[in-house]
Amino acid sequence: MDFFPYEHLRPKQGEFISTVSEAVHLGKNAVLEAPTGFGKTACVLAAVLPAARELNKKVVYLCRTHKQMDRVIEELKAIARKEPVTALSLRGRKEMCLSPLVLNHTQDSSSSMYVCRLLRKMKRCTHYNATKEKEERAYELEVLFSRGPVYSHEIKEVCEREAMCPYEVAKAVMKNTEVIACSYMYLFHPDIREGFLEGLGVTLEDVIVVIDEAHNLPDLAIDLGSSRLSLNALKNASREASEYNERDIAALFEMTYQAMLALDSKYKLEMGDEARIMPAELLGYFFGKRHTPFLKEKNLTELEEFLGYVVKQGEEVQKEMLKKGKPPRSYIHSCGVFLSNWLAMRGRKDFCYLLVSYQTKAETQSVRLEIVDLDPRNITTQVTSACHSAIAMSGTLSPLVAYAETIGLTTYEAGQYPSPFQRSNMLVLAARGVTTKGSYRGLEMYRKLASKAAEVANNTPKNVGIFAPSYEVLEGLLAGGFRYIVEKPLFVESRKLSSAENDELVRTFKDHESHGGAVLLGVLAGRNAEGQDYPGDEMNCVILLGIPYARPTARVKAQIDYYTEAFPSKGRYYGYYLPAHRKLNQGAGRAHRRLEDKAAIVFLDYRVLQPFVKKDVSGWIARSLRPIDDKPGLLARYIETFFYGVPK
Ligand code: SF4
Repeated sequence: MDFFPYEHLRPKQGEFISTVSEAVHLGKNAVLEAPTGFGKTACVLAAVLPAARELNKKVVYLCRTHKQMDRVIEELKAIARKEPVTALSLRGRKEMCLSPLVLNHTQDSSSSMYVCRLLRKMKRCTHYNATKEKEERAYELEVLFSRGPVYSHEIKEVCEREAMCPYEVAKAVMKNTEVIACSYMYLFHPDIREGFLEGLGVTLEDVIVVIDEAHNLPDLAIDLGSSRLSLNALKNASREASEYNERDIAALFEMTYQAMLALDSKYKLEMGDEARIMPAELLGYFFGKRHTPFLKEKNLTELEEFLGYVVKQGEEVQKEMLKKGKPPRSYIHSCGVFLSNWLAMRGRKDFCYLLVSYQTKAETQSVRLEIVDLDPRNITTQVTSACHSAIAMSGTLSPLVAYAETIGLTTYEAGQYPSPFQRSNMLVLAARGVTTKGSYRGLEMYRKLASKAAEVANNTPKNVGIFAPSYEVLEGLLAGGFRYIVEKPLFVESRKLSSAENDELVRTFKDHESHGGAVLLGVLAGRNAEGQDYPGDEMNCVILLGIPYARPTARVKAQIDYYTEAFPSKGRYYGYYLPAHRKLNQGAGRAHRRLEDKAAIVFLDYRVLQPFVKKDVSGWIARSLRPIDDKPGLLARYIETFFYGVPK
């Protein structure tokens, strides 16, 4: 137990460590489910660190949030007090960068990596140039930060003072460290992975991958494999092509724009709706016209070659912009890449093609095209099949076989571990007589839901979180009069809030823990139901308003159809029910974060009591689940007795 930072192991932690250690020694993967508070981070590090030393491997610890990365470094600092260990938390390139061009003009990790690469190649990044010039100082920093676990912001602070590139210094440090805690993108984004591994000086075979909060992986993989094209982007691409005198390219984008408008008239989509289309429905527009300037005949190879030319010209535009000191954004490039993919993927069953109607930032209705990756394995197996071992862990992975199948793991060690929470600190209720099932929705049901939610919230000592399956249900609860019967300040999540505004909303809500409590009304799987923790009185009670089954959109139907073929007889379960049940579990776990937390979980939907749903409710919650009859005041009595010992 040289690498376990605490004095004693708690029940089952030893078993967890042995399972991981065995998997890593055998070069196998592992899928592990353990609730919050179990101590997964400390246990997994205690298992992988000695194995990595023995086998001469690096540990890449993938996290979803900065807070989680810092938590890994915190644990490693505690380990380092017993046994020397080296580690680094590496934030995204944008967070590690000091170039104004990257900071102000890139949207995501992929584009910031691309711009950084161009800047370096063209020797136009002063911070990069300084790092190369001050070779000796860069080496001193490398040595300084390679002595023990270090947070990325520590490197950034020093580099800022010295006008050097924090990312380049971190890259040098990475080569000497045993553990790198970073975002999923560093390994699962194919382009970013290449540069990251090059920086580490290893191949995937030399890496033990820990995937924390691994329930996020299937959705993230689908997102990474998918892309979209808006009318606005096409308009800008056409204008850009005209500016650069690329008449054929401008004509291609104009034609694509007209094709999308024609598809829009054909499908007549309502706002928020989507239609599955065949790839040929778009391609047909390129060949059906008499004056297609860039295509002489109905020849896909010719179109493919032309699109290759478009992408290349887009790259030239990016370089040109950089030379002028402007942000190297090119719509020709991004639209060209999308159309190339549209053509390249057209025969694949694991992708679907959509026309989507959506609300723009200016609140007008528009349409876009989407290529949707239906199989997370297209992305996940690029990592899990090539690395030494992948350890996937989370509090909500059940059933493990289903999880492993959908991310493409065939042989793996599996483990499920009990909750460390005392049962006396948990009250779990499921109300009969209410539901958000589509056929029951209406003002009468919303009034009933509002009344039961208020009954629970008004009798809970401090803060309460209410999570609805959708914004429609959230609005329904308000229409049912919730605002007027709840006796605490109400904070309502909204899609219109910026991240900063939402952070402020949550911060103010949390502050009410010391002023008699408040209620936060949000959406399951939204920004406040996942990734946010509410320990102690920050959330004494979490109310789950229904089950977040997806609307049966074209995308959802395509996913079910694809899974039905890939996993016979399990398609609907894997593609529709299970993702909703996992989101429900995530929301339900928001209030129990620290071992001493005493909190109630209230499901306001009778369907949670049905075996089909209940079997997927996390074990630590399901074991305390108590049905509550549909009688006014009954929920309040249970809540009062739980928190105050007797009804008030
Ligand atoms: S070299 Fe460093 S400072 Fe320059 S753009 Fe890249 S990450 Fe940013």
